[in-house]
Amino acid sequence: MITLKEALQLSKDELQSFKDDLKSKIEANSELNAYIDVNNVGDGVPIAIKDNIQVKDWSVTSASNILQGYIAPYNATVIEKMHQAGLSPFGRTNMDEFAMGSTTESSFYGKTQNPHNKDCVPGGSSGGSAAAVGAGLAIAALGSDTGGSIRQPASFCGIVGMKPTYGRVSRYGLGAYASSLDQIGPMTQNVEDAAILYDIISGHDEKDSTSADMNDKVSDKLDANRKLKIAVLPKHIENASQAVKDAYEKAIQALKNAGHEIVEKELMDAKFDISAYYITATAEAATNLARYDGIRYGNRVEGKNLEDTFIQTRSNGFGDEVKRRIMLGNFVLSSGYYEAYYVKAQKTRHMIKEQYEKIFSDVDLILSPIAPSTAPKFGELENPMDMYLSDLYSISVNLAGLPAISLPICKSEDNMPVGLQLIANAYNEQTLFDGALSLESEIGYVN
Ligand code: GLN
Repeated sequence: MITLKEALQLSKDELQSFKDDLKSKIEANSELNAYIDVNNVGDGVPIAIKDNIQVKDWSVTSASNILQGYIAPYNATVIEKMHQAGLSPFGRTNMDEFAMGSTTESSFYGKTQNPHNKDCVPGGSSGGSAAAVGAGLAIAALGSDTGGSIRQPASFCGIVGMKPTYGRVSRYGLGAYASSLDQIGPMTQNVEDAAILYDIISGHDEKDSTSADMNDKVSDKLDANRKLKIAVLPKHIENASQAVKDAYEKAIQALKNAGHEIVEKELMDAKFDISAYYITATAEAATNLARYDGIRYGNRVEGKNLEDTFIQTRSNGFGDEVKRRIMLGNFVLSSGYYEAYYVKAQKTRHMIKEQYEKIFSDVDLILSPIAPSTAPKFGELENPMDMYLSDLYSISVNLAGLPAISLPICKSEDNMPVGLQLIANAYNEQTLFDGALSLESEIGYVN
């Protein structure tokens, strides 16, 4: 597959014939179920779009039954920016319903296969975007990351996935899951393409009040030769599988060979991250998803009266995982439990942020696993708690609002991709991409 950088050099005619070929290739690989549908708009470079980002006049459903029939009335800011840069949305990709999950199994449209092994999950929630790029069915894709949903599927499918600093990319037009954690980001074949796509979609947006008033760009200044101080986490890695530990060793060696200084640091126990995350995320989700009432958007099941219409619509429209989270979120926000759960989670979130600030007062980057293992088989994480626990390496980054990038390091013994992530201090995307480019150059392309 050509890279984004190469595709941006193609003429209109070359792009048109490329897109025709791509469309037939996607149809020939339809059993992968990476795309929900292919629906080209415009004559730019085709980019796959997660089904929770609004593209004007497209169906956009967050892979939920409740949003069947909803047509986006406007473009998300990232889509406007893509158009301005000569990129065109090309197909909606599959995902976990409302981005809640780590495997893409909770989608209304059925599961997506991992391109490296059809019996394995592609990761989630941006599993369709990751599988499309990993299978050579997309030049690049957009995903969203609330607690790892760009970086973890990127790692399982052998591609690069980047979550920007909170506030770098406008959330206007993104279907909200947990508004204080969500960020849209690039999913690409290599680090340079991720920097290019990040530059295109990032920047201040007056339509998003949490958008940072910063417009600095990274891709023209990429420098793989900068020497950085990088923290490694010997204790944190203990919970990972052997394949991830081996990849970690390999990455440390590569970073040393590239001339970076390696120091050892520690993060607090990930059990705090999991609790703080699942309380915060479900509380915000319960609030955000209250708007799906059968009146304003998408699907409606007519009931005996208005209240019954709400009940029938929501009971039929939401899947099990989404219902579980709405219940959990309303519970932790209820007056009797608010102090005990929600307030405590916010205090813990503050501590998580402080521990990172302390580490970043001494180092430029942190090297961390992104998932405890390679892609599990379908059904392997059938207990919701096991699924939540598998987020232990990804979610503190969102709680602290930091930028991070996941990139392929090697293949496991059973030939599955293993990725790791680099984490940088807030608004330090340049350092993040420089370090990632250096690691990628030292290791070489894995896929
Ligand atoms: N797996 C996490 C969750 O289910 C993260 C999902 C995401 O980043 N959207 O909440």
